[in-house]
Amino acid sequence: ASESAAKLPSKILDLMDGFKASKALFVASKLKMFDYLKNKGPLKAVDVANEVGTSVCGTERLLDACVALGLLEKTSQGYSNTDSANTYLTSDGEYSLHGYIIHSNDHLWPLFTNLESAVREGSRQNHRAFGRKAEDLFKDYYHSQEVKQRFMAAMHSIAHLTARDVATAFDLSQFKSTCDLGGCTGALAHELIQIYPNMKVTVFDLPEVIANISYFQPSEQCAAPVTFVSGDFFKDNLPEADLYILSRVLHDWPDEKIHVLLSKISAVCKPGCGILLAEMVLDDEKKNRSTALLQSLNMLVQTEGKERSGSEYQGLLEQHGFANVKIRLTGNLLDVVLCVKT
Ligand code: SAM
Repeated sequence: ASESAAKLPSKILDLMDGFKASKALFVASKLKMFDYLKNKGPLKAVDVANEVGTSVCGTERLLDACVALGLLEKTSQGYSNTDSANTYLTSDGEYSLHGYIIHSNDHLWPLFTNLESAVREGSRQNHRAFGRKAEDLFKDYYHSQEVKQRFMAAMHSIAHLTARDVATAFDLSQFKSTCDLGGCTGALAHELIQIYPNMKVTVFDLPEVIANISYFQPSEQCAAPVTFVSGDFFKDNLPEADLYILSRVLHDWPDEKIHVLLSKISAVCKPGCGILLAEMVLDDEKKNRSTALLQSLNMLVQTEGKERSGSEYQGLLEQHGFANVKIRLTGNLLDVVLCVKT
């Protein structure tokens, strides 16, 4: 028996099951099971079902699957969260991924259902997934308050998880002022102020986003608060700064749009001023990082952008007068590219 087990293609079998595991995590999160278990656990399946308003038989199977996936623990008293479920899966956990998980379930899942069409056609699938032709990616996200809030919560959860590693990948203390273009809820901006207390930090984003940021601000006020400015970075004047940050912004756009944005930044940058990119940087051969390469498929199904390699980012930046391009792979979800205007 062990000989035949050795021949099992376990990697392939795991991949075949991957979507079931993802959906089990998404549904347990959507039903807030990790929140109930944090506050009231350990609980029996019947108690979780009563709290959530679900069937006992379905709830028990979902909870058992979550135990087997390492998300929950099961004892004779019932089910309880693992430490990592408390930190990452509850909606108020320190590094909650709840927002991104709900976004994955409600938005990315229907898009990935159309991956085959995306690959055949080489284009995004919003019309198939949501029955609406996408004119502009962000207009699409911001057409309803609910979808906007969900998207912002998703961005916030990943930005919060990555902010420290992004902010400390390089010593940024020579930059006295920073503008985070497309900085959304300000999660990275707040981290920058913690690490560089003398830095003046501005977040620039679309008016629909800036109108909605209050929910995401930290409860403790900092000595030097973050400034929020609304505008369109393709059309409007950019705030003055020594360092411009583009975190998960370039991956949303095709090269033509990136050239528009970089030339605008270059026009307002004095020599010595910098650009910092935070992205999942692909290896030059594009074969090693499955998280980043799957993210590039994620960009295919919903944007005109893609993930790029370090040398692709370097090429784009150098065309706009930025040099000394340095890349740090952080080991976190986002890597960092820093360059200065010559
Ligand atoms: N930088 C944040 C992060 O890493 O979590 C958010 C990344 S999100 C993928 C892209 C951000 O760019 C959104 O907040 C979006 O509103 C903003 N954005 C898109 N188009 C914009 C434009 N034309 N002008 C200003 N901000 C824009």
